[in-house]
Amino acid sequence: MIQFQYTRATAAKAALDAISRDKTAMFIAGGTNLVDLMKRGIVSPERLIDISRLPLTDITTEGKSLKIGSLALNSTVAENKTVQQKQPLLVQALNAGASAQIRNMATVGGNMLQRTRCHYFYDTALPCNKREPGSGCGALEGFNRMHAIFGFSEKCIAVHPSDMSVALVALDATVVVDGPKGQRRIPFIDFHRLPGDRPEIDTNLLPGELILGVEIPDNRFAKNVHYLKVRDRASYAFALVSVAAALQIEKKVIRDARLALGGVAHKPWRLSEAERALVGKPVSESTFREVAQLAMKGAKGFKYNEYKLKLTPNAIIQALKVASKLV
Ligand code: SF4
Repeated sequence: MIQFQYTRATAAKAALDAISRDKTAMFIAGGTNLVDLMKRGIVSPERLIDISRLPLTDITTEGKSLKIGSLALNSTVAENKTVQQKQPLLVQALNAGASAQIRNMATVGGNMLQRTRCHYFYDTALPCNKREPGSGCGALEGFNRMHAIFGFSEKCIAVHPSDMSVALVALDATVVVDGPKGQRRIPFIDFHRLPGDRPEIDTNLLPGELILGVEIPDNRFAKNVHYLKVRDRASYAFALVSVAAALQIEKKVIRDARLALGGVAHKPWRLSEAERALVGKPVSESTFREVAQLAMKGAKGFKYNEYKLKLTPNAIIQALKVASKLV
């Protein structure tokens, strides 16, 4: 059994003070990933700082953006009428993300910080540079069916598992954090990182920082969005490939577009070049086929995940067809 101390914080400042005093401490909120990691011996914090009672659950509109507190539950966000009206892509991604039980426990901040589901990471008998830097990557030459086709390194080919984050990166969200150096704002696209030489670091959050919330700027995509998640079974499975697609369409011409992938990289994978290529084009299957090919530039498969090289463009085409109501 792992022994740890428990502290409950009731204000953000108290939580930040507590974590600054104890370098081995970790924040816990819903615990849907952290408790698993502790049970398997992958992380062993000597102190857990329970932040679940902090007043960071509000969902509000301010100016031209939607603000969601980091401790809002995934289910609460998905059921919120304003979110449904303003950001239906986010709602679709949240509902695709996990079982109802998990959505009722998991928070927005925790969803962003969940760790990879690479099997080698969770099996402490096997090498994994993310769990134990320098031990090697079991997946590189092993069973890599779920792994990355973009942005990987020779140290790690894992993928980020969050569906919600794929929608947030597509929607140009910003993460608001507080920490030892005060508050700062991180564009969502820069929140998660690629593995490079340091696969043990998943995000650009600094030690001792606390996520306060995310902000999503208003957009004109509400009518034409789709989150497509391709997975091994219909419920409670992580994405093999997912696509977040949002289009602004006028008279059957695409005026603006957002496109991002999940299940293909160490971070939610935004397809900016493909988005630009969609603008000004007619809504048609040939437009979507062309853009899907462009989106695959630089993709590379491994022994067991080469199928993603075919699945991904097909998923992009299908997501764009549904978003544009072509099907
Ligand atoms: Fe570990 Fe990453 Fe390799 Fe998986 S892919 S075994 S997480 S280093």
